[in-house]
Amino acid sequence: MIPTIDVRKLNARKQYEGEAEFAFEADDSLVDIPYVRFSSPVGVRLRYVILEDDSVEVTGSVKFSLKGACSRCLTETEQTFTGEIDAYFTPRGEGEDYRYTNGVIRLEDCLNDAVMLAIPGRLECGENCVPFVWKEE
Ligand SMILES: [Zn+2]
Repeated sequence: MIPTIDVRKLNARKQYEGEAEFAFEADDSLVDIPYVRFSSPVGVRLRYVILEDDSVEVTGSVKFSLKGACSRCLTETEQTFTGEIDAYFTPRGEGEDYRYTNGVIRLEDCLNDAVMLAIPGRLECGENCVPFVWKEE
């Protein structure tokens, strides 16, 4: 379950910064490697800071495992990856910023982006990897 950051409520409580730790099930469509999928929920640690102009800085990390066929030798393999969250939310969402509306930040897009950036182009099983070759009879 992905929590929201209720900027209005936090402002009212003068709670301008905080931390959260949670996990969520990411959609396998984020993985663009053949025969590879998520083998764990995505673990998230994040920290938010609400600035004076109501823009919100969200930083932290994502961590997850991928499992599937090694892109070179096709052996089943599983590896853990980490990525960085470094996002900026504003009510207007100009430029590279994420937009939030009605005083509430929804983190889905920013988390999916952080996960996608951390997914490698290919999954490789490691040092003993021998590229798969079709043998001719
Ligand atoms: Zn391999």
